[in-house]
Amino acid sequence: MFDTLQDRLQATFRNLRGKGRLSDADIDATVREIRLALLEADVNLAVVKEFTAAVRDQARGAELSQALNPAQQIIKIVNAQLVEVLGGQARQLRFAKTPPTVIMLAGLQGSGKTTLAGKLSLWLRQRGHTPMLVAADLQRPNAVNQLQIVGQRAGVPVFAPEPGNGVGDPVAVARAAMDEARRKLYDTVIVDTAGRLGVDAELMAQAADIRDAVHPDEILFVVDAMIGQDAVNTANAFAEGVGFDGVVLSKLDGDARGGAALSIAKVTGKPIMFASNGEALTDFDLFHPDRMASRILD
Ligand code: GDP
Repeated sequence: MFDTLQDRLQATFRNLRGKGRLSDADIDATVREIRLALLEADVNLAVVKEFTAAVRDQARGAELSQALNPAQQIIKIVNAQLVEVLGGQARQLRFAKTPPTVIMLAGLQGSGKTTLAGKLSLWLRQRGHTPMLVAADLQRPNAVNQLQIVGQRAGVPVFAPEPGNGVGDPVAVARAAMDEARRKLYDTVIVDTAGRLGVDAELMAQAADIRDAVHPDEILFVVDAMIGQDAVNTANAFAEGVGFDGVVLSKLDGDARGGAALSIAKVTGKPIMFASNGEALTDFDLFHPDRMASRILD
């Protein structure tokens, strides 16, 4: 994961080894290397600019520490900036005061929503919650079936329209699901919604209608980390069309560069709440910016 970025940053830090004190020219050269490393990782340009300006300012203003050599000082500054662009503090899921807590998933088709629904429901179940999954993606013929399979594997019930029950109105399904959750006392409802391969006005409006019907406590925008900083454009479209509270990065295991992870929190102003890093239902956890930064600099 993020191998190139990791290698390039390590090479940059290696160049500083053995230096007694960093001149402004040393700092500028280092910042240039960091800039190239971030650009190669496909990080959003505005984020790269802010990141490198902060590193330069802090490196120039750094008090000479007895305990740290120049390379260590730069690593410390870069680490702090990475944590910052990754969102700072980990953000926990917000639960409703009165159950059920409603979590709605939005994102492009193939972004990993259905898989995430299974992962999140298992994650909640393992923490003592009683989740229910809702199949409100009626666009793709196989989506309901896929959610049912995922629900079965997670040991979580799935609310779905009856087979053969007309074309299916996802808003009506979502409403009926809420009634069922209240009746059966499920404490969390996870609503899977439809997504196309590209941003689509009709589906965006449908997601907004589902949102208005179920009043989510959390709308999670699911994005494939492998699409790099394109994630930012998609996120902006969803922010405008539906709005969201947090981001879930999926397929981090396949992301060699890191552009989505390092751009999205800063550009959208929304935290990365969870990360998925594999196809198994357990390849999933809360996203910790500090741990991710440490992994990059390891
Ligand atoms: P949806 O269309 O948004 O519901 O996306 P799916 O959940 O169907 O996922 C699309 C594909 O990505 C499937 O083949 C999943 O197995 C795969 N996938 C989902 N999450 C991950 C992940 O974290 N890592 C990997 N490697 N594959 C994933």
